[in-house]
Amino acid sequence: MKKGLKNLIFSLLAFAFAYFLVIKSQIFWLEQILMVEQLLPVFLVIVIVLASYFNRSRLAFLSALWLLYFASLSFAPPWSNWLTKQGDWLMVFGCFSLLLFSLIKDRGVVSIHGFYRIVLIAFAGGCAYLWLLGSELILAHVQERPKLADFQAYIGNELVVTLCVLIILWRTVKAADLVSTAIFISLLFWLSEQYQLTILPISLTLTLVTLYYLLVIIIDAYFLAYRDDLTSLPSRRALNQLAMSLGRKYTVAMLDIDHFKKFNDTYGHDIGDQVLKLVAAKIGSVSGGGKAFRYGGEEFTIVFPRKTLEHALPELEAVRQAIQDYKIVIRQPQRKTKQDRKAKPSNKSSNFKTVNVTISIGAAIRTNKQSFEQVLKCSDQALYKAKKNGRNNVSY
Ligand code: GH3
Ligand code: MG
Ligand code: MG
Repeated sequence: MKKGLKNLIFSLLAFAFAYFLVIKSQIFWLEQILMVEQLLPVFLVIVIVLASYFNRSRLAFLSALWLLYFASLSFAPPWSNWLTKQGDWLMVFGCFSLLLFSLIKDRGVVSIHGFYRIVLIAFAGGCAYLWLLGSELILAHVQERPKLADFQAYIGNELVVTLCVLIILWRTVKAADLVSTAIFISLLFWLSEQYQLTILPISLTLTLVTLYYLLVIIIDAYFLAYRDDLTSLPSRRALNQLAMSLGRKYTVAMLDIDHFKKFNDTYGHDIGDQVLKLVAAKIGSVSGGGKAFRYGGEEFTIVFPRKTLEHALPELEAVRQAIQDYKIVIRQPQRKTKQDRKAKPSNKSSNFKTVNVTISIGAAIRTNKQSFEQVLKCSDQALYKAKKNGRNNVSY
């Protein structure tokens, strides 16, 4: 929840900043408007291709819809006449489609899921039509009863807009991913167009939205490649990347959770995962210039670029101590049997349990023109020593 809110606020600020810059330099952009109008469809096609390639199907479909809409406004295809007469429907259809995108998951575009999504978009169009039909009927009914006339304003578009804004906002904060923030920003774009709240031409604002999608796809692809899914720490690939940029002096530490196999056997793999995540967060907050990575399994690596062993040891000791002292609160699995469920918990925290784990650390400084792999091997040997020395200690 907190991460989702942070994501959203940061994205909104970034978008608002870009928008503000365009407004400030709008004379320049308005002079280039012909070029912008020609480039926008190209950008949208690029986003459709990239989003499909990286399995961001919601952005691909959204961009396809924008492309269709923009083409209808600019190139007067046969249906554009019909479309311009469907103002209310278009508005509600846009809101419903964005609501749909905020509720579904990203799946492949060129697959059966892609087909389902097209059906769902058509369904959103149908719902928009039915909604307007329904609200017209209600309005006709209300007009016959002056007492109910006050409700008139709330039926129809405003109700749809309010509901969609609230639900999409809630989904965005809950999902805490960049595609969801892109959907929320798209909703703001759509509403600002529909209520004519922006002074910029649609080609400019839509270009901004499209570039934002592009940024989201690139950042997401980066995280996919370089971040570990479970712990959110940089992955081994990121470690290899860092290794190539290291200078002559650095210290490397290997960290390994003690008796983790036994822990998994006792509490189950799911709780093992929860603990791994929490321990990783502690390791990730190492100070003294250390950079933490998930090496694999329950093993982690910390690299201290330009730092000596003497500098790194107290920092590693602090991490070891912090994890030893960490009373990890884990959620117990749901009680399974009916009787268990009926039995009232004696206190509120009975679904939670506190556990402890420790880690062993082996550290090595680079000496004699060693390669990164050699330094890593030395720290692994030091880790082996730490395990032999009774675990829960730092060896070198
Ligand atoms: P030692 O103190 O010697 O390190 O004992 P250990 O049991 O931790 O050592 P070992 O490396 O043999 O076992 C690692 C175990 O860590 C195996 C596996 O059960 C567990 N493990 C590895 N990756 C994950 C993971 O992603 N999630 C969970 N829950 N467990 C994992
Ligand atoms: Mg291990
Ligand atoms: Mg272990």
